[in-house]
Amino acid sequence: MKSVERHITDILGLVRPLPPIELDLLRAQGAVLAEDVTAPVALPPFDNSGMDGYAVVAADVAGASEAAPVHLPVVGDIAAGDTGAHAVRSGYCARIMTGAPMPAGADAVVPVEWTDGGRAEVSVRRPAAVGNAVRRAGGDVGEGDTVLRAGVRLGVAELGVLASVGRRTAPVRPRPRVAVLSTGEELVEPGKPLAPGQIWESNGYMLTAAAITAGCDGHRHSFVGDEPSAVLDAIDDVLMQADIVVTTGGVSMGAYDPVKEALSGLGTVRFEQVAMQPGKPQGFGTVGEDATPIITLPGNPVSAFVSFYVLLLPALRRMQGVAPDPLPTVSARLSAPVSSPPGRRSYLRVRLEEDPGADGPRAVPASRQASHQLSALADADGLAVVPEDAESLPEGTEVAVLRLPRP
Ligand code: AMP
Ligand code: MG
Repeated sequence: MKSVERHITDILGLVRPLPPIELDLLRAQGAVLAEDVTAPVALPPFDNSGMDGYAVVAADVAGASEAAPVHLPVVGDIAAGDTGAHAVRSGYCARIMTGAPMPAGADAVVPVEWTDGGRAEVSVRRPAAVGNAVRRAGGDVGEGDTVLRAGVRLGVAELGVLASVGRRTAPVRPRPRVAVLSTGEELVEPGKPLAPGQIWESNGYMLTAAAITAGCDGHRHSFVGDEPSAVLDAIDDVLMQADIVVTTGGVSMGAYDPVKEALSGLGTVRFEQVAMQPGKPQGFGTVGEDATPIITLPGNPVSAFVSFYVLLLPALRRMQGVAPDPLPTVSARLSAPVSSPPGRRSYLRVRLEEDPGADGPRAVPASRQASHQLSALADADGLAVVPEDAESLPEGTEVAVLRLPRP
């Protein structure tokens, strides 16, 4: 059997970072920045007031106190957005609002709270040091400073930063278009009644959601039965709109395994047994004129889920121009003994619980671990990894747990 690492490397070998495009800011949310972004001007672009108050010459109010307020004539108002030229001489002040440009000559702002709020003349009851409540030009970023680095995923704060340096659009790697195609004669669209022998199609929804959560543009395509020619037709249909195709089902050793049957003939897709549990039967390769990567996952829902996170996620990350890292891991102690088939790496659904007094969390294995038992998955927040050489691990064993993303 092939090692998990080898298979991940093979899948990574199929993909490259997608060429960058320029997207409107709100369309770029969640995408990965393709170039460093610098500030075209200093920010703030001009010295301005950090508070509502009075722009003064600090030396004028150095002796101000409650008992002996300093009285200054107010020469005018300066509001935020005022583009006029203002100046203040010693012995005078200007009423100024937050964000308004500092007048020439003034070197401090006295907050309105330290005064009587006068319009024509103001009584200042406390001294303000030079620079008090003044936001200096360039105090946030200097002209030409790098504000965001290539490779960062654009979240809420990053979009704010881009707009603040005057960008309307951002150069990003487009979200990889992931086409999800399920196969199985037994599948029925959720919402429709089941006949005997049928089940509702769930992999398509699950994997599409997983792709979207991973920063991709996931598309669930209608599923197909177990006719190899229908599988080929469906793949043909999705190729135009896909950077990568993901299928589920039809790759086992049984009869009626249409994905394997259909794609084996092309010579560009390999089917192998990977030393993992669940998720042993796997296939990968390319299809179509553009040699679009295709990953064929097994049909059991938990197998498909685990395969997505262990095998496929690194490749989706590489396509987005970020390091093809696996899921983050945390070390935890098993709260119960577990078993695992010899020679295969097991991924067990676990819940992570705080373990008072211990130095890490406790991993509580789900009671139902079979690969068709999807319901326990919704309860799990991690996949505990049982190494290939272990057939059982006693309670208390320290294991690595892959943390599942939660949107
Ligand atoms: P297969 O890999 O096609 O042999 O399927 C393995 C198991 O997974 C069978 O019990 C299928 O009914 C089930 N299965 C396959 N595809 C799906 C799907 N899209 N949604 C839910 N169950 C599925
Ligand atoms: Mg099937």
